[in-house]
Amino acid sequence: MLNLLIYLMIFGGSALMVYNIWGFIHFAKYLQAQKMWKRGIRILYMPIALLISFLIGYIIVGVFGKPDIVMASVLLGGSYFVYIIYKFLNSITEQIVESERLDAALLAAEESNRTKSNFMAMVSHEMRTPMNVILGLDTLALNEPDLSPQTEGYLKKIGASARMLLSLINNILDVNRIESGVLTNNPAPFCLQDVLEQMDAIAGTLGSQKNVSYERKSALPDKQRYMGDEVLLKKVLMALLDNAVKYTGAQGSVVFDVREIPQDKDNVQLQFTVSDTGIGIDPDYLPKIFEVFTREDSSSTATQGGSGLGLAVTKKIVEQMGGTITVTSRKNEGSVFTVSVPMQKMEPEAEEVPETQEEGYGLAGRRILLAEDIPENAEIVMDLLDLEDVVCEHAENGKIAVDMFTRSEPGYYDAILMDLRMPEMDGLTATRTIRASAHPGAKSIPIIALTANAFAEDIKESLNAGMNAHLAKPADSDMLYHTLKKFIIRPA
Ligand code: ADP
Repeated sequence: MLNLLIYLMIFGGSALMVYNIWGFIHFAKYLQAQKMWKRGIRILYMPIALLISFLIGYIIVGVFGKPDIVMASVLLGGSYFVYIIYKFLNSITEQIVESERLDAALLAAEESNRTKSNFMAMVSHEMRTPMNVILGLDTLALNEPDLSPQTEGYLKKIGASARMLLSLINNILDVNRIESGVLTNNPAPFCLQDVLEQMDAIAGTLGSQKNVSYERKSALPDKQRYMGDEVLLKKVLMALLDNAVKYTGAQGSVVFDVREIPQDKDNVQLQFTVSDTGIGIDPDYLPKIFEVFTREDSSSTATQGGSGLGLAVTKKIVEQMGGTITVTSRKNEGSVFTVSVPMQKMEPEAEEVPETQEEGYGLAGRRILLAEDIPENAEIVMDLLDLEDVVCEHAENGKIAVDMFTRSEPGYYDAILMDLRMPEMDGLTATRTIRASAHPGAKSIPIIALTANAFAEDIKESLNAGMNAHLAKPADSDMLYHTLKKFIIRPA
């Protein structure tokens, strides 16, 4: 009986050793195929030779020797030990191969994202440049005296269609950038009041064009700063306010309510509510409202241009910011969109900018240096500035702008509008050169990027180069005046 057990153990050990030898041969071939073992490949076969000699030893003991139970246990244990080592090596190697494969896939995905986002940046730039010309010339043409009502109507329609096309381009680019992970939340300290004022300027203008009243309610301290992504926040608010005005008829009203909901000592939820008394949304459509390319199928929405992309992008952006968006609506009574985003509260800004008493923008007589290489774009900006009696001097590239500024008397220019892509010297380099120059106004002159590169990354790059603000082309005339006023009109 004992003898049977001893022979079972020895031949069982031998069978396990045969399996181990097969496993090691397989393992060596696998390593070779993965090209993981580049030097001294023969060393991989040495354990196999060793295992074969063990196996021969087992068989000799089993056939010719007088094995006892101790020897049989040692031989079976030895085979089992080699088996465990083989399995262990195999699993470590598989993990290494898998992680290398994932690294390679990640690198390839990052590379393809980069290529895609570079392509998108280029497409965006190329599309915006002609849109800038169309919208700019349209604004100027509308300011011409003695327009016949028919021509004025045509011009307004050209402007509306161009703005719609531009918003479609922006939305398609945004969807792409969200999907490829380029559009991400980049928090930095910002002044909420500035954002709200810009929204007021745009929504107020859109409303007055349609005879829709616009009002903002906010009980927040003026200079309160938060840590958040200002660019994304503006996109979200703009989309909601734009829709609210768009889907509200004459004599209707839009109310924008902003409040802070404290969470703990430093953190709050900022809650933005945009309510309108417009056409409202059908309850059947409401659950689909944030889906891409959906629009309510009704005669009242059909008359309004749109792609059904805006809210889908808005929801994705809000989620990127860690927030939520909800909507309630009643058909023919109005809609309420509520966005809540978490933000960290920062120290309020120390400097107080007093409200200007002047009518309009109060920019008359101010002098701007405009760096822009494309003559049509330069002409449009100069004409827009001329409407507010702003004096504008033109530099055809960054290098000329640097020369003109550094040679100027202190205080001669009130601000610089800087294109980014220019021959000879680009706008970022020109800004850094100006900021580093010995001119007394080098550090204080407001430099505002006026460019077709409108992505969050571009905005950050311009701020890092020392610019004060960033206006995306096509520049909305109100935004242009508003931004100039904000930076130029400061306490003496
Ligand atoms: P669009 O470009 O069509 O406006 P959005 O994604 O911004 O695309 O909106 C999708 C649809 O949601 C709109 O077509 C409209 O039917 C509806 N909608 C959005 N906002 C409002 C609103 N404030 N009032 C009524 N309907 C709205």
